[in-house]
Amino acid sequence: MSAPVRVRYAPSPTGNPHIGNIRTAMFNWLFARRNGGQFVVRVEDTDQGRITEGAVDHILDGLEWLGIDWDEGPRVGGPYGPYFQSERLERYHAAAESLIASGNAYRCYCSPERVAELRKEQARNKQRQGYDSHCRHLSDAERQIKEAEGATSVLRFAMPQTGATSVEDSIRGHVEWQNDLTDDFVLVKSDGFPTYHMAVVVDDHAMDISHVLRAEEWLPSTPRHVQLYRALGIDMPTFGHLPMILGSDRAKLSKRHGATSLMEYRDDGFLPEALINFMALLGWSLDGETEVMTPDTIRDNFTLERVGKPAAIFDLDKLQWMNGVYIRQTEIDELADRILPFLEQEYPARLLPIDRDYLLRIVPLVQERLKTLADAPDMLSYFFEETLEYDPASLIQRGMDSPGTHAAIARARADLASVPLAEFDHENLENILRTAGQDLELSGRQFFGALRTAITGRTATPPLFEMMEVMGPGRVLQRLEAAAEKVSAL
Ligand code: GLU
Repeated sequence: MSAPVRVRYAPSPTGNPHIGNIRTAMFNWLFARRNGGQFVVRVEDTDQGRITEGAVDHILDGLEWLGIDWDEGPRVGGPYGPYFQSERLERYHAAAESLIASGNAYRCYCSPERVAELRKEQARNKQRQGYDSHCRHLSDAERQIKEAEGATSVLRFAMPQTGATSVEDSIRGHVEWQNDLTDDFVLVKSDGFPTYHMAVVVDDHAMDISHVLRAEEWLPSTPRHVQLYRALGIDMPTFGHLPMILGSDRAKLSKRHGATSLMEYRDDGFLPEALINFMALLGWSLDGETEVMTPDTIRDNFTLERVGKPAAIFDLDKLQWMNGVYIRQTEIDELADRILPFLEQEYPARLLPIDRDYLLRIVPLVQERLKTLADAPDMLSYFFEETLEYDPASLIQRGMDSPGTHAAIARARADLASVPLAEFDHENLENILRTAGQDLELSGRQFFGALRTAITGRTATPPLFEMMEVMGPGRVLQRLEAAAEKVSAL
């Protein structure tokens, strides 16, 4: 029987997580769930200078918002903790000691200035840049002197200088690197903190990680990791490097392509289900065609065989389209609940609190047209405002003048004023107003166009009679009156 699946998402808390980063988390989670394994979150916070305040919470809140749950890690604990690398330093030090003892690592006393100068010189000579293994060749006596002087040092890995290192990557297949292209990289920095390479290998082993699924940008680091596993005499996980994500112009994904941090998508009114679906297609596919899928379908079919090698293209239009699809699939109740916070945040105090029953009747009218939840405050404002601001001239439709417009609005007002409340429904309103339009010898476009502007201040809206029914006679009559006044003042 093969070892149980244990995968991890190992964010560095250096800022807000971006879509590529979350895609990595999600693929690991899907893989764990599909294989009945465990999904671990481990915070890689050993680069003390780059840590940003609040980043861990941002990342975890983002995962929670998406419905990506983890079995072990911060907030939930687990048998392999602690899950912050900064709390695991003794493990790295133990590994460092064993690597020194086995001759696979050595102290390097070269100053950062010397290393920087070396790189500059290599660049000038068009040579491969990297550490020249200077301290690897120090004699014991030379080392003792350095130590006695209290010289600061880093710990470097003694990389094999001949031969090649290869892996069978579960996504990219066989990948091989010449060893002389990798220098003696740093394992422990002068501040005593491990580098990423050291900590990731020690922890993936200590946490019994079976599969390391991570972004392709880490592929070049893999020969270092493979050699470290060997030097430590421990088993390696299976590696799988997820394809890159590019913008639609095939350039590296950036803000310019509309790719922002995860929480900005939430604030911009995207639904978590839509993002899950969209991100799944950034490198994975069900059958090469199906676009809209439930999280269950994605999870039940998630295999690494269906993760591609070519870069995935991030297409914001597609995300917007998909979000619209999910909005249209959402139950009215649920959609109203999700829209509500956006209204509460955008609307001035005088429009609050929002009447939920009223909102429940508005939502079906706009569900078709909403692309994001953040469209709602503007799209719905005329349902809530007491008075409308619009250019009175926009009441006058093509082929009409102001007295005619005034007469039309006044007629509509008079007819609607006599409709009993119980009969103020769209069918009845349509019958009454069609008759009025015929009497006035106006086309539907003219009469209903004027009424639409009068009632909403806009030209593009949901169907007129349904809207009137939802707004109710009080608001409708008051708006017709205001419009009649506006047009007579022209
Ligand atoms: N801490 C690394 C990152 O932020 C993790 C890389 C890995 O998964 O090995 O991407």
